[in-house]
Amino acid sequence: MNRTCLLALSLLAIPAPAHARLSPPEQTIAAVADRDIPADIALLEKLVAQNSGTRNVEGVRKVRDMVAPELATLGFAIRWVPMDAVHRAGHLIATHTGRPGTTRMLLIGHLDTVFEPESPFQTATREGDKLHGPGASDDKGGVVVMIAALRAMQAAGTLKDANVSVVLTGDEEAAGEPVEIARADLVEAARHADVALDFESMVATGGQDYGSIARRSAASYTITATGVSSHSGQIFSPEVGDGAVFELARIITAFREQLPEPDLTFNIGLIAGGATVTLSADEAQMSATGKTNIVPPLAIANGDFRALTQGQIDRVKARMTAIVARHLPHTDAQIVFREGYPPMAPTPGNRALLDRLNAINADLGLAPMPVLDPLKRGAGDISFVANQVDGLVGMGPASRGEHTPEERVDLSSFPRQIKRAAILMTRLSREKARD
Ligand SMILES: [Zn+2]
Repeated sequence: MNRTCLLALSLLAIPAPAHARLSPPEQTIAAVADRDIPADIALLEKLVAQNSGTRNVEGVRKVRDMVAPELATLGFAIRWVPMDAVHRAGHLIATHTGRPGTTRMLLIGHLDTVFEPESPFQTATREGDKLHGPGASDDKGGVVVMIAALRAMQAAGTLKDANVSVVLTGDEEAAGEPVEIARADLVEAARHADVALDFESMVATGGQDYGSIARRSAASYTITATGVSSHSGQIFSPEVGDGAVFELARIITAFREQLPEPDLTFNIGLIAGGATVTLSADEAQMSATGKTNIVPPLAIANGDFRALTQGQIDRVKARMTAIVARHLPHTDAQIVFREGYPPMAPTPGNRALLDRLNAINADLGLAPMPVLDPLKRGAGDISFVANQVDGLVGMGPASRGEHTPEERVDLSSFPRQIKRAAILMTRLSREKARD
């Protein structure tokens, strides 16, 4: 047996050291990430126990008060930007100044959740390597991964040279309006950044982790239909017509039949009709009064739609508007679009960032992450800065059931996500900033 055969045999028999291609500080990052997992989970449980539904501004501030000291301890300058002007809590902005002229990184996450205090889903339950709880992944799990990655960098001595800005919005799930105000600080932070890393959940299916370099837009709309109120015995007559509920039903049925196209989804999430309809100020509740024998004069529906490009957004809006305008007899209707999230296009710069992450995966002994189909994830705050900086989405933990009472975060994904983020930031921090 010659030496080459021996070497080949020994390579087969002995698995390569797990972190063979990591630098000494990167090996420290990996060790610290593993060591600190119990503390990370404890922090996550503490954050999840505090309700921070977007409209619960007091709750969002309480989560801020738990997160801010973690960043301050790491040497970040902390700033709170109140968002009373758009009826939201505000944004936590933290800045770490490192070596001048190196890559400036913007880390994006959020303090709020979709679960308002009225939701029955309020507490977390540990289920083996899952944590089942409101915001356990979205985005409290992401915030914990972010903090843990920065802490591992500090332990390894790689944070001190890194230029890092953290923006944790308080209204990611329902951005305040106008978004020009609600997202001004995020956009401003991106003006001083070269790279944006979005710490929302990573998509992982069947043991495969995916990298995400694009997100669809999201915008909401309200359709208001009106009609002539009368006794039900007169409905469809030449004098009374179809009433508001049939007009609204016509519109949403036509949407379903006529709008579908690739990369587009649309939804009606809330609907009511009757003699009176009231929509709560936060637009999360409708109430209606009416009688079965009264032709309803009013019907309202709230929905959203998501698309991949601005061209698709413009086209779909025009088609929706045209459908709404074809009224049934003695009815009227209008659709009002609200501002939402712009699309994040899959650019070559975003792709290059994923290539960087995949080099780290190789060095960590992890499988490469293929590009995720953008339809498989929702819109996010990074979309507001996607036209300014290269970006990568899904730096947070793996999860299931987000935005539902089945939200469960996969705690076993924390170590690898913390290592990926910390090593990516470490390597980026050693490169020159773009001009
Ligand atoms: Zn969310």
